[in-house]
Amino acid sequence: MKVASETDPGMVTDVICDMCGDSTRVAAGELQYGTMHASWGEGSPHSGEEYELHLCENCFFVQVSTMKRTRWVGVMFEEEGDAILQNDAYGRVSKSSSFGESHD
Ligand SMILES: [Zn+2]
Repeated sequence: MKVASETDPGMVTDVICDMCGDSTRVAAGELQYGTMHASWGEGSPHSGEEYELHLCENCFFVQVSTMKRTRWVGVMFEEEGDAILQNDAYGRVSKSSSFGESHD
């Protein structure tokens, strides 16, 4: 949940994790969070509804782990099950070093 400035409603002063309720501001002062967004369209039971949830880093990876486990349970006796279990980067689409260098 985004918290807007009282004097400038367009300015986000904090982002609260929708799972644990803590601020997503880290020690360095930056806001670090993951976003889950959905905008349901025609044909969906939730047509016309839009959702946006924010997760702190810890809660984000709890959710990733839950999704991975749920997916694994569905295919655990198939070949795909091992691949899911061994995937340490479930859902990750890219990774760069914190120093801006690429290590492919
Ligand atoms: Zn959280």
